[in-house]
Amino acid sequence: MSENQLMDWSALGFEYHPTDWNARCTSRNGVWGEVEWTQSEYMTMHISAGCLHYGLEIFEGLKAFRGVDGKIRLFRADENARRMISSAERLCLAAPSVEQFVDICAEVVRRNLRFVPPYESGASLYLRPLLIGTNPFLGVKPALESTFIVFASPVGPYFKGGIAPIDVVIDRGQDRAAPRGTGDVKVGGNYASSMLSGYQAHRSGYSNVLYLDAVERKYIEEFGAANFFAVRGNTYITPASGSVLPSVTNKSLRRLATDMGMTVEERRIPVEELSEFDEAAACGTAAVVAPIGKVIDLQTNKIYDFGNKVGPYSLKLFNTLQDIQYGRTEDPYGWTTVVEV
Ligand SMILES: *Cc1c(COP(=O)(O)O)cnc(C)c1O
Repeated sequence: MSENQLMDWSALGFEYHPTDWNARCTSRNGVWGEVEWTQSEYMTMHISAGCLHYGLEIFEGLKAFRGVDGKIRLFRADENARRMISSAERLCLAAPSVEQFVDICAEVVRRNLRFVPPYESGASLYLRPLLIGTNPFLGVKPALESTFIVFASPVGPYFKGGIAPIDVVIDRGQDRAAPRGTGDVKVGGNYASSMLSGYQAHRSGYSNVLYLDAVERKYIEEFGAANFFAVRGNTYITPASGSVLPSVTNKSLRRLATDMGMTVEERRIPVEELSEFDEAAACGTAAVVAPIGKVIDLQTNKIYDFGNKVGPYSLKLFNTLQDIQYGRTEDPYGWTTVVEV
């Protein structure tokens, strides 16, 4: 089958879809072995592996885009590699080097070329690198063996009908991450912390939970899987906090905002300040920018309403970043790597 007939690209959401090949590589006592390429979607591991009982698991998420010129580009894979290294340090796992990480990601794309969606679809190939502690033990201690896995799955655009506002809730009943905890590294455990509040929000018809700081519940932190930013006048404002995950998308948007002539502020944001913002949005690899329509504070019943519209700054930032990812404009920052095929 030709790649365009392979599947209904327009029907893709954000679900796991099998591809041809995935990579695994294991470090024992700090020494990495050879990369193993497999078509199996399964792995066997010891029932006492540290990832299964002590949460020794970290992951990344990045995308490969088929551009308007037919070239396939990885977006800032080196940033994901560096973040994986910092996550691994926090969990005492051996991490792949930046070069190993980027090379394996590029090769996963090459070996699954027929799953890289066509340009017109607005879809992309999502890469999921993960690192898990795999040797058996019971007494709590760092893992001596860590296994690095990279697989791919084609995913649809977050907004099928074009960028549109989402409604979110503030839930003061549950926290995502504590100061000096693991909020600033990409560990599966953070998703365990936010699972119930996120599920309850979804069940009530909301897209996401906006978490507040765990000490005073006074300052905005981030969403379960996306950073927060707001626009007031010509200023891009995003939380400064030791328990927010450093989003590659947010970092990129801050740079674009600066270069568009906006002022960028990274500071504490009291939740009441929401009423003073012109625009608010979630940002991350999945959606790039998801504008907020309403924020509903579940415990105080206060509603912050940004209107059922996409603000001009959010839209411009979204378009500028996607133009770089899809090769529609020059990439003056060197953020994209063309995957040679
Ligand atoms: C992955 C993640 C993000 C988004 O990061 P990007 O690098 O922009 O994809 C934001 N918040 C949390 C908690 C995350 O795990």
